[in-house]
Amino acid sequence: MARVKGPLIRRSSLVGAAAVIIVALGPISPAASIQSEAGSAYMKPVLIEGKAFPVLLPIDGRWLNWRDTYGAPRMRFEGGVWRQTGRHQGIDIYAERGSPVVSIVPGTVENAGWTFYSGWRVGVRGDDGRYYFYAHLLRSLAPGAVVGARVSAGQALGHLGSSGYGPEGTSEEFPPHLHFGLQERTGSWANPQQMLQELYATTVARLEDTRRRIDEAGLRAEVLRSRAYLPGAPPPDALVSAVNGALAERDSLRSSIAWES
Ligand SMILES: [Zn+2]
Repeated sequence: MARVKGPLIRRSSLVGAAAVIIVALGPISPAASIQSEAGSAYMKPVLIEGKAFPVLLPIDGRWLNWRDTYGAPRMRFEGGVWRQTGRHQGIDIYAERGSPVVSIVPGTVENAGWTFYSGWRVGVRGDDGRYYFYAHLLRSLAPGAVVGARVSAGQALGHLGSSGYGPEGTSEEFPPHLHFGLQERTGSWANPQQMLQELYATTVARLEDTRRRIDEAGLRAEVLRSRAYLPGAPPPDALVSAVNGALAERDSLRSSIAWES
């Protein structure tokens, strides 16, 4: 974590106190970040009425990408013709490979492991009685993703990947995404789009707000530093302390939203 150290300004005794020689400051390095498998820092889950959006957002990255494809026909090319093999029983959320995938609700892990179409997947029976299904994960499921284990909302289940559509180990048959499915208590699949959109909108709003405050603190540090170059600059110690204060605020804001797996 970068801090401005040492003298900000050196007064040269040779040319008198009025002559101020600016000593170059080191560059402000990026705030310390929590590294994921994919090399990005992610925002920790935001709980909204006890629920969390299932894919963590990269703090510095672009937002996620998906459309409502629930119920869309699923086609397969067989014997020289396209055949409809079923309908899409979920929503695909596209994101960076390795993005942490977390449980939307508190519940109990009902299944975890490989299936032909889902690849590495975890199914959670929510305390609300509904079934929450997370598919195409990377091989390394989270330690808590074992059958019978309790999970809380926002608890890690694994990482977003592109496993499935073949025998164990198959991957790269499609771009990395989370297939999320939701079953009602009756056992019928339901469209989770509205729930996902609401969770996503609130999570993004929280992240945007925090990012704005992080940027403001960083900008404040730069403005303070620039004052060292102006006539009537505050005493060096006071300036260093003010710059460090702004940097500390920026770093603390950042770590307050950073995911630690
Ligand atoms: Zn899907």
